[in-house]
Amino acid sequence: MSETVLRLSGITKAYNAGKPNEVHVLRGCDLTVQRGEVVALVAPSGAGKSTLLHMAGLLDTPDAGVVEIAGEALQDKSDRRRTQVRRAEVGFVYQFHHLLPEFTAAENIALPQLANGVSAKAATERAHDLLDSVGIRARAEHRPAAMSGGEQQRVAFCRAMANGPKLLLADEPTGNLDPETSDRVFAALMTLVHETGLSALIATHNLDLAARMDRQVRLEAGHLIEA
Ligand code: ADP
Repeated sequence: MSETVLRLSGITKAYNAGKPNEVHVLRGCDLTVQRGEVVALVAPSGAGKSTLLHMAGLLDTPDAGVVEIAGEALQDKSDRRRTQVRRAEVGFVYQFHHLLPEFTAAENIALPQLANGVSAKAATERAHDLLDSVGIRARAEHRPAAMSGGEQQRVAFCRAMANGPKLLLADEPTGNLDPETSDRVFAALMTLVHETGLSALIATHNLDLAARMDRQVRLEAGHLIEA
């Protein structure tokens, strides 16, 4: 039986509403992502991909519409509940890795688990297992500055997965890498996602990467269109 992990319905969002510089970014976006599905969110820069991901990840609220994660409508819930669900169910990856420079790869992946009440031993073990699944267990004790761009981004994927979220949201996750590295790092991400049965919404303007996902949706003039 399919299980809906993310449902967006009628999402609208404008910045600077009512002012001369108003930007109406989303004009009624509908999207359903099932468990295990990897969906490409395709659009050129400035179309509103980050805005949509922020709504889906409960980092911002829409002007209108419904944001459901694992069956719970969250757009009007308290900040406390939204933060709880975001921490437990959502992992984020950005174009730049945002790893903490003074910590090792394993520590960067262990930290969100410690914040979630996991023991140091279990968190470290999980960090090593995750690094193993993206092929860089040997880099566990390296700090970010001692890793390549591709390795840093793999660590960022592992950190996003650290607390076992249901939904991964990624914003141009390989946009900062050269094409060959991007290809390999993307393959590692797909393996990790498929192994864990996670759902993912991955924004990209790279049509080759988009074609390797399960489904594509295009963001056009504020609407989502199945490609
Ligand atoms: P994308 O991720 O596709 O590049 P964004 O969601 O970042 O697009 O931005 C969509 C549009 O909204 C752009 O025109 C951008 O300038 C505008 N925008 C984004 N964030 C803000 C903000 N905080 N205030 C005003 N305008 C914004």
